[in-house]
Amino acid sequence: MSTVYDLSLEQLTDRLVGWGEPAFRAKQVWSQLWKRAATYDDMSDVPPPLRDQLAAELPLGVEVLDERTADGGATRKALLRLGAAGHVIETVLMGYRDRVTVCVSSQVGCAMGCGFCATGQMGLESNLTAGEIAAQVVWARREAGRLPDSTPQRLTNVVFMGMGEPMANYRPVRDAVARLMDPRGMRVGARHITVSTVGLVPGIERLSIDHPQVGLAVSLHAADDELRDQLVPPNELYPLAELEAAIAAWRDRTRRRPSIEWAMIDGVNDADEQAGKLASIAYRLRAHVNLIPLNPTPGSPSRPSGPRRIESFARVLEAGRVNVTVRDTRGRRIDAACGQLRLEHANRPV
Ligand code: SAH
Ligand code: SF4
Repeated sequence: MSTVYDLSLEQLTDRLVGWGEPAFRAKQVWSQLWKRAATYDDMSDVPPPLRDQLAAELPLGVEVLDERTADGGATRKALLRLGAAGHVIETVLMGYRDRVTVCVSSQVGCAMGCGFCATGQMGLESNLTAGEIAAQVVWARREAGRLPDSTPQRLTNVVFMGMGEPMANYRPVRDAVARLMDPRGMRVGARHITVSTVGLVPGIERLSIDHPQVGLAVSLHAADDELRDQLVPPNELYPLAELEAAIAAWRDRTRRRPSIEWAMIDGVNDADEQAGKLASIAYRLRAHVNLIPLNPTPGSPSRPSGPRRIESFARVLEAGRVNVTVRDTRGRRIDAACGQLRLEHANRPV
């Protein structure tokens, strides 16, 4: 067992009943863990000896190793050590005027090998369990209470845009989503959850079946196979035509609007010609396009596109009747490109 968040209510009940506790205790603990995001120390309605036993035998398994804040405290990034195996990952909480979003990791590192990405530069270390993924959201729910007044102090959205490729660790991601939505627990609405993928086609299909209300973001970054093969290696396995068909099928099944993510990389994928090709794809998919100025990483020479280039690129999309937003680069000062803080710690004892 990795963390108590890996247990279903039924499994938790079995454990506590096995210790001679009444079943209602398990419900009480469960609801404190998930609804209040309480630690065992906070559970004043649970007898202290039981709290000690829980902490010893069913640990929360979430330790904050480092935390950085930016944007006047509205962006909070934590380096968390999760579970018995001590998986070290990043989780970022971002408070906006009207919503509070947590960006969670699905793996330690990533095997997909996108050169511009700090997590990709690490390679894959291991997968996270469903409980370790959900535990990040519990941390965020607790942390949301410390956000400034400029933003709601309540967690509203969950995005799988942290370290790792969610579709390469599909079952734990699927189960974590189910746990987050559990009406007896956190009750996060499916429409407030978005899974971001580099474009692994089988995962997109499975997600549309298992969680048809959950949002989909696809990291495209290039609008022809020649360039995409270079930027996003899995494109060789699932080239653009196949990926577009999978996104179209997802949209037809879910009736939701897909998002396309596009990191703006200076002189690489930011020409108007790419924008034109992207406009055709996005128009056919009726997708929303997010342009994200590249966050430079130490392991790559790539630079972000300048504001004028981004504006011109966006204008081509708009002319093609495509919805486009330029994403703000939240927390650039605190290395918010996921994987960077982890990389910094990689060679240090944690
Ligand atoms: N593996 C998934 C989800 C995690 S990455 C995916 O690739 O979609 C989340 C997003 O951050 C992706 O859109 C990814 O392309 C983007 N990203 C990665 N490194 C980046 C960087 N250095 N600057 C800007 N965006 C980056
Ligand atoms: Fe993995 Fe996504 Fe980074 Fe690519 S961008 S290496 S898929 S985390």
